[in-house]
Amino acid sequence: MRFRGRLRVELSREIVEEDLEAIREALEAVGHHLVKGFRNPEEGGRVESWSYSGRVLELVISSGRLRLDEASMRVRRVLEEVLGRSRRLGVRGLRLEDAVVELDGEVRVGGRLPFVRGVEVVGGRTVIHLEPMDEGDLKRPILLRLLRLLNEKEVRARWGGKAEHWQLIKQSRVKLEPPPYTDDPNKVLEEAGLVKRFSVGQWLYTPLAAYLLRMVREVFLEEVVRPLGFVEAVFPKMYPLEVGLRTGHLRGTVNSLVFASLPKTYDIEEFEELTDYMYVMDEAPPEEVGRYVRYPEYFLCFAQCEPFYWFFGGELVDDGALPVKWYDMSGPSFRWESGGIYGLERVIEFHRVEVVWLGTPEQVVSIRNDLLKAYERFMDEVLDLEWRLAWVTPWYYEQSGTVEKVEEFDIDRPGTIDFEVWLPYRGPREDRKTWLEVGNISIHGTKFTEPFRIRHNRGRTLWTGCSGFGSQRWLISVLAQKGFNPENWPPKLREYLERNPPPDPVVLVTYPKTQSGRRELEQLVKYLSKYLRR
Ligand code: ATP
Ligand code: ZN
Ligand code: MG
Repeated sequence: MRFRGRLRVELSREIVEEDLEAIREALEAVGHHLVKGFRNPEEGGRVESWSYSGRVLELVISSGRLRLDEASMRVRRVLEEVLGRSRRLGVRGLRLEDAVVELDGEVRVGGRLPFVRGVEVVGGRTVIHLEPMDEGDLKRPILLRLLRLLNEKEVRARWGGKAEHWQLIKQSRVKLEPPPYTDDPNKVLEEAGLVKRFSVGQWLYTPLAAYLLRMVREVFLEEVVRPLGFVEAVFPKMYPLEVGLRTGHLRGTVNSLVFASLPKTYDIEEFEELTDYMYVMDEAPPEEVGRYVRYPEYFLCFAQCEPFYWFFGGELVDDGALPVKWYDMSGPSFRWESGGIYGLERVIEFHRVEVVWLGTPEQVVSIRNDLLKAYERFMDEVLDLEWRLAWVTPWYYEQSGTVEKVEEFDIDRPGTIDFEVWLPYRGPREDRKTWLEVGNISIHGTKFTEPFRIRHNRGRTLWTGCSGFGSQRWLISVLAQKGFNPENWPPKLREYLERNPPPDPVVLVTYPKTQSGRRELEQLVKYLSKYLRR
């Protein structure tokens, strides 16, 4: 990224010959201030040339990472100080003209942005021409956000559309050689009628399927979450747009959000045309229904931890309240996954235990480490799976300066660790596509405490962390590696079966649908017979 622009500084009176000496001196001081804080002076700013006419001193400035607004303010401060002292010259105003931001790579910039006059791509670089800005504009947060946006776009372009950078941290030993089970549990669950497709990416879980989901979740809570002292809260599952603006999800993942709209009116009579139509035609065309609802003012639970940051937003927290360790499992998450939807693994509506914490950086790292250890034991011993851990650096951590070189990561810095489990039905474990992300742990740094203004009463830095345990994915992982026969399950799951007899499956005249499905269900009942409630 490079900046360039003409800064016109209006002084309190006309510039005369006798001022020039002092101006030269002042500009030298400006030069020092423009590189302050940068280890590499190239990243700071410099005065390329200057001239004057009447009351206006004009500087052509350029810079690497020092933003133009910040550079302009530095110029103002230094000039005022030096010229005020030696020549009784004050600064009356600033105006930045012909400002240009140059980005590496070809970057697309939206056509409706304030301050942007034009965009051109030359020789693989993107050049953005800005409108003239006066001092008031230079101080506006809109400009700051515009420049941040351009910086993010540059980083994204450098990442080549990849959302994250993946590095293996640790891997379990090979446990399944040869794998005892290689069928696709998604198919078995559907054919045997334990789940029935409700709509795209949505399932109805019959009591027996619900039982299995609860089983893995309960063992997780029992073995990982509760022993570490996390306590349950209940978070809302429909978020006002404002919340998504603060967390960044509305910008970063708008293509995956499921939105919700309220009716335009509560007066049922106003719907009469629509209700009469549906009565007679027995159909509900979405475009007709759409005429009666407001624009979406909400989106449905996406990351599940958003309400946590909202809750502490604007509050002052003292040491006595820290660290905060909560979890929520009060309802589903919704994600539009488009073409990726598959079985129970990748659905639109899924269930998750979301673990969240808030504290000082040391506390947040230490909680993450405890959780990581517990997760490892959970995967390796309790569920006895073949698993691996990866460090994933989402692109947005780079530009914030937290990740200098993604090849050398520091695990105690903000970032994410993914848990992956091998699905034998997908193919050999050497193939990356045969692994499924089942969960992750993140340290966010101040990514959420800053925008939500979560503050410590004595000014200490506050960080947050979160971890998502997707029930559907963990269940599929266990079934994919161990199959449906509890004799091959790890002891903790069998104990759960013994303590909590599972409910009967659903068998109707017409359900499960196929002969092979019925046979699979019979087999399953045989496996479970000694545990079933009878
Ligand atoms: P993926 O890369 O597989 O899409 P993700 O990175 O989008 O996963 P996160 O946003 O980290 O996943 O969500 C946390 C957890 O929520 C995941 O580890 C997974 O257990 C669960 N999860 C996310 N998306 C889905 C989905 N569409 N269906 C089922 N579970 C999901
Ligand atoms: Zn989260
Ligand atoms: Mg995803």
